[in-house]
Amino acid sequence: MRPITDLIPVLNDFKKIIITTHANPDADALGSSLGLFHFLKARGHEVQIITPTDYPNFISWLPGNDQVLEFNSTNKDLVLEMIQSYALIFCLDFSDLKRVNGLADAVATSPALKVMIDHHLEPENFDDYRLWDVSAAATAELIYDFIISIDEKKAITADIANCLYAGIMTDTGSFRYGNTTSKVHRTVAELIDLGANVNKVSRSIYDTNTINRLRFIGFSLLEKLIVDPKNNIAYFSISEKDIQQFDLKKGDTEGLVNYALSIQGIIMATIIKEDHGEVKLSFRSTGDFAVNKFASDHFEGGGHKNASGGISYLSLEATIEKFKALAIGFKEKYGSS
Ligand code: 5GP
Ligand code: MN
Repeated sequence: MRPITDLIPVLNDFKKIIITTHANPDADALGSSLGLFHFLKARGHEVQIITPTDYPNFISWLPGNDQVLEFNSTNKDLVLEMIQSYALIFCLDFSDLKRVNGLADAVATSPALKVMIDHHLEPENFDDYRLWDVSAAATAELIYDFIISIDEKKAITADIANCLYAGIMTDTGSFRYGNTTSKVHRTVAELIDLGANVNKVSRSIYDTNTINRLRFIGFSLLEKLIVDPKNNIAYFSISEKDIQQFDLKKGDTEGLVNYALSIQGIIMATIIKEDHGEVKLSFRSTGDFAVNKFASDHFEGGGHKNASGGISYLSLEATIEKFKALAIGFKEKYGSS
């Protein structure tokens, strides 16, 4: 594995490039992918973005979205064949191949060279070139650095600026999380100068609620939120029945966990949610409390220190019991790491 600076002099040799990202892409995953897509296309490469799954409507307005190929059962053979036949694969916003779900084997066995651009902890070794920095707030911040290390700032069009701004805005919780460095602010200042439309991006992402989603949030706060002040933990459990009752769509539970984290004194907030026969967990924490370690120790997951996820194959009820038992020791075991 070599640093990404070694790729730059030979980038033009790669005519056919795939960009992929993690399953259930968020705005950073898709914004980074589309930002890089526009840049590489303008330089004359043939580029295909492939996402392992579909993604919520509140990011499908991003410029270039119609060029994205979502892997599914109807295009399986075509997509797997493309992954084998392209020359270079950019892997954005993940560093653990499991996170591309059904594409993992194809990416691992493809003769293409692989480029990892990411900011998650503990990367695996599947890449040939790497731009990896856990201190980056978003992969989109790294894509910005990558582009300007190759070209002048004017290579960043308004479309690219909007894509990258969306990724940085969401991964910093609108510039509120601890990862919001002065460099983040300098980068987004440049993106705004280059055409990012702050109001359009934030309204498109945050202000496109359905009434069902708002009512679901009200219901969850009233009926589903459990607060354990002794252990400084708060969590929601959401069943398939709740999801059906409010006709929830993909992405509709995103952001709910932050209400639990906003309670005074809470150091870890969690959503435990039934999801097609499995149970997905989303963890958020404050300060030095490391939910990524909690997720990898107990729920086959990982992520960032203050935002991570995992999975359970127990029933919803059994997962809640497991979580409650583990939560008792969370403060002592996962604090000030
Ligand atoms: P979310 O709670 O928004 O789904 O995920 C928060 C963060 O946790 C993501 O940015 C990702 O880094 C990480 N994450 C979520 N689910 C998983 C998982 O199943 N495995 C791993 N390794 N990381 C996850
Ligand atoms: Mn990210």
